[in-house]
Amino acid sequence: MNGPQPITEKLLEGILAGNRAALARSITLVESKKDSDQEIAASLIEGCIPGAGKSLRIGVTGVPGAGKSTLIEQLGLLLIARGHRVAVLAVDPSSRISKGSILGDKTRMEKLSLSTEAFIRPSPAGETLGGVARTTRESILLCEAAGFDVILVETVGVGQSETAVYDLVDFFLLLQLTGAGDELQGIKRGIIEMADAIVINKAEGNNRDNALKTKGMLEISMHYYPEKPGGWKPQVLLCSALEGSGLEDLWDLIQEFKKLGMQSGTLLENRRNQNIKWFQQSLDAGLRDYFYRNPRYRKTFDALQRMVQDGSISPFRAAGQLLSQLE
Ligand code: GDP
Repeated sequence: MNGPQPITEKLLEGILAGNRAALARSITLVESKKDSDQEIAASLIEGCIPGAGKSLRIGVTGVPGAGKSTLIEQLGLLLIARGHRVAVLAVDPSSRISKGSILGDKTRMEKLSLSTEAFIRPSPAGETLGGVARTTRESILLCEAAGFDVILVETVGVGQSETAVYDLVDFFLLLQLTGAGDELQGIKRGIIEMADAIVINKAEGNNRDNALKTKGMLEISMHYYPEKPGGWKPQVLLCSALEGSGLEDLWDLIQEFKKLGMQSGTLLENRRNQNIKWFQQSLDAGLRDYFYRNPRYRKTFDALQRMVQDGSISPFRAAGQLLSQLE
């Protein structure tokens, strides 16, 4: 029998009607490793693509404790009050190592999760960051088809996850705490370079002066970074997610970024480039999967691996021998 199965149709209908339960169930299928689930997921994504792409995708990163969930909750509530529908997705690199999760285990964003206009989804426990990023990318498409027009993708600022999230979003926000010179030097230069804005959080009370100093230092160091596409100049803002101050300015800034990006065409160009990366990464993953699952190469692979282990062949030559057998 051809055509999509009834479950796919039902879920797709639910997603397109903005039903959060159908969306949650569909994302579970996207995250599943079962072949039968993957097939349904592929049809769902296919069905969602025409309705996807219309949101603003915002990445939020920062070390644990920087205030990411507090800020996302407050910003989410502000946006919902202005008529937006907000989805929050997480990319959690910790799941790979510990099977636990820095992002998923906390009780988070309680107020936001009560809103019918919000959808919050913690990260899957992926084996590879690439895998988690893939499912997040597909989840973004499903959320967009379900009518969520602001997607916040959260990640912990450790390891490679920032780069993975950077490749998924339109606007990349780095959350910082105040710090003296020494601490500032500890921030990875690459992350500051990726940021479209840096928010110094917890800038209230006695901490405000320090936050201003940190802002000044960051602004000086940012002068030396290359210009962003379309002429965007990354900004440093102060905010207190706890008190809710600075969030309106942040949203205004994001709107400015969007306007400039639409005028200059960089927003669209960035997405096109991300799609190319998506295609290449899918192909890479598929080829690898095809190779490792193929029994034809298994025996040679095992034999060569043993030879590499006992030193009777160099790793490079062993790989070359196996590759020469590929058809
Ligand atoms: P995350 O790990 O980056 O998601 O950080 P959380 O949002 O969980 O915040 C870590 C802690 O900092 C919590 O106890 C928050 O209540 C607190 N926090 C978050 N934002 C602020 C802020 O603007 N000011 C103050 N004083 N505390 C904050």
